[in-house]
Amino acid sequence: MRVADWDAIIVGAGPAGSALATRLAPQRRVLVLERAVLRARTAAHGAPLPAEPAPTERVSPDMQAPATAVAATGAIASSRPAAAAPPGRIAAPPVPRIGESLPGAARVLLQRFGLLERFLAAGHAERGATISHWDDGDPVWFDHLRDPNGPGWHLDRNRFDTDLREAALAAGATLADECGPLHASPVGGAWQVERQDAGQIHRAPVLVDATGRNAAIARQLGIPRRVDDELICLHAYLPPRADDEDDCTRLCADTNGWWYSVRVPSGQRVLAFHLDADDAELRALRSLPALLAKARRQAVLAEVLPVTAGDDVAVHARPAGSAMLDPAALAQTAPGFFALGDAGLSFDPIASQGLFHALASAESAASVITQSGAGGDAAAAGAQAAFLAEQAAVHAHYRRRWQDTYAGPARYGGQRFWAMRRAADDASSSRIAASA
Ligand SMILES: Cc1cc2nc3c(=O)[nH]c(=O)nc-3n(C[C@H](O)[C@H](O)[C@H](O)COP(=O)(O)OP(=O)(O)OC[C@H]3O[C@@H](n4cnc5c(N)ncnc54)[C@H](O)[C@@H]3O)c2cc1C
Repeated sequence: MRVADWDAIIVGAGPAGSALATRLAPQRRVLVLERAVLRARTAAHGAPLPAEPAPTERVSPDMQAPATAVAATGAIASSRPAAAAPPGRIAAPPVPRIGESLPGAARVLLQRFGLLERFLAAGHAERGATISHWDDGDPVWFDHLRDPNGPGWHLDRNRFDTDLREAALAAGATLADECGPLHASPVGGAWQVERQDAGQIHRAPVLVDATGRNAAIARQLGIPRRVDDELICLHAYLPPRADDEDDCTRLCADTNGWWYSVRVPSGQRVLAFHLDADDAELRALRSLPALLAKARRQAVLAEVLPVTAGDDVAVHARPAGSAMLDPAALAQTAPGFFALGDAGLSFDPIASQGLFHALASAESAASVITQSGAGGDAAAAGAQAAFLAEQAAVHAHYRRRWQDTYAGPARYGGQRFWAMRRAADDASSSRIAASA
């Protein structure tokens, strides 16, 4: 096995992992391990990234080549020059990611990551008003222009994720994509991540789980997830009607769930319905005609939905309920472990909080990792405790707002979807999910 030493290993190159890598990489040797294939993209989005100096690596006696040479096999892609490393920038995945609304408050974080200028030039659309038929009575109109932080954005989500990854590379992080299964464990006061598919062992005092809702590393370490509810999001990207110039987010409650629809910068219209995983209608609604027919019963949606959508439009299903890693188990974990973004805390999409949290938790982790520096185990444990306390406060605030939100549509109060959420409190609704 080849062995390489780093200052931080981040698993997951989504917004949380990339944002943290961007903050740490200028001063530290940072490795980001990503499961997905991130193909090189064409010149459409700009010039190749600048070269960065190679990381300092300790090569074990049995290591045949350092990790920078591994890049030549395509196993590690990095901004550093490497003979056959994928050229140019990192490609967006082919299927658009759902989750595209970013509040204006994120501006400060983007600035702190040094990303604001790039973000503003990327063509994300300024968020229009929200038309909401949620509480009883007529639909209400909320104009985000009144928000002191500004209206926020509807993101080109693939572009957003790609730009964050590129920023991490430009800051000096090393990114390895197409990773097979990883095995993480605490060994001798540090963290070790074994990549069997590449015959590599990576070691660092800091290990970060940024794998999204999977929380793949935390679960492997035996840290259970507290699942608040089993919400599923069914969503489709529809071709817009020729006369569709609507820039509003449309939101409405229904008997067994809730809808939103918005146009994203690609021009497509997202239609999303959220319902319980055990709802008897779930299967039928995976057919687009059935989903559209149900949506058209809602006046705020009917006025913008296309009459037909092509046969090639798929309905995707994604878990969307809120969950968090068990704080007590996290507190018992060896020092230097952090779970960021959705891996630590995932939110119901009604909160529109996930991407902001991905950036905010990355910023918090960067601060505590940087401050604990070379202070040894006590400093590392203190840093971890400070991070966990902040995450617990974020979760408590979120749950209070979540309960208020789901108490809104009194007209459906007797329906199972709503009644369950109205009856929920943290003690009764959360359950400890079996660890992987
Ligand atoms: C239906 C829906 C609607 C949403 N709407 C919004 C919204 O409007 N606004 C908002 O702010 N948020 C929204 N969100 C949430 C938002 O998408 C997430 O909060 C955000 O993607 C979290 O970022 P992350 O970096 O933590 O995780 P992710 O974006 O999930 O990234 C995780 C990364 O880790 C990689 N990975 C996973 N497992 C492994 C592994 N074992 N090894 C290596 N790599 C791995 C993945 O490939 C991925 O690149 C929504 C979510 C859903 C489900």
